Amino acid sequence: MLLAGVARIAGVGRAAVVQWRRRHDDFPVPVGGTGVHPEFDRAAVLAWLLAHGKIEMPTRTPTGALLMARPGGGTRTFRLDDPLLTLAEDASGEDLLSGWSTDDDADTLATLTDTGSGGALRRLTMPGTVAWAVPGGVRVLDRVRTGAGGLYVTLAWPAGLRGAASPRPTGGVIRHALPYSAPGEACACRRQECGGLVPAGWCVEHGDAAGPAVEWHPGGGLRCAVLAGKAGSGGATVAVSGTLPE
Ligand SMILES: [Zn+2]
Ligand SMILES: [Zn+2]
Repeated sequence: MLLAGVARIAGVGRAAVVQWRRRHDDFPVPVGGTGVHPEFDRAAVLAWLLAHGKIEMPTRTPTGALLMARPGGGTRTFRLDDPLLTLAEDASGEDLLSGWSTDDDADTLATLTDTGSGGALRRLTMPGTVAWAVPGGVRVLDRVRTGAGGLYVTLAWPAGLRGAASPRPTGGVIRHALPYSAPGEACACRRQECGGLVPAGWCVEHGDAAGPAVEWHPGGGLRCAVLAGKAGSGGATVAVSGTLPE
């Protein structure tokens, strides 16, 4: 796993993990990657985080909840036990989500995502990460029956489509609009670090969602990170904010 993955597990920023590496001689040595993007063994990292009190041993199995769109309208909630989310760092990559499921749920999931464009994940809630949403392209990648009879399901979707989930109960991905020109004084839209904005319905400049936008992208997603990196510190590393825009 990469530094960003370690940070997600520990619930801290990437910079904090870099500090830990610097200060602790016993921080796991990379097993691969590059000097800038070292890769660590997941088990070694977890052991280190536990030993140093950065995380605690969970007392019960964590679960993830997926709010999936139904093709005919409405949503359905699925549960994944002991979920594992692997986020791609590149828009051309794929995010992977695995966990334990039931036969019925896995069948229904496969049906809901077996459309030409894949399924839509309105909201993914699980411990240790912000709520994500994916407007399409979700599919069941794998179903593995273990010796003990459990069913381990893996979902995949294009990383470039992933974004922060809307706080609305029905979910859906928050999108940012990149306007043609800088917002004027009358603009009431919520401005984002990436340079995009979330148009307010009453904004005289941007209220028409289709109007000034030249590009829509999933808020909190990879495109946001790239844009924010260009506009700001110059670091193009994905640094997803831990807070959800309202
Ligand atoms: Zn505006
Ligand atoms: Zn953005």
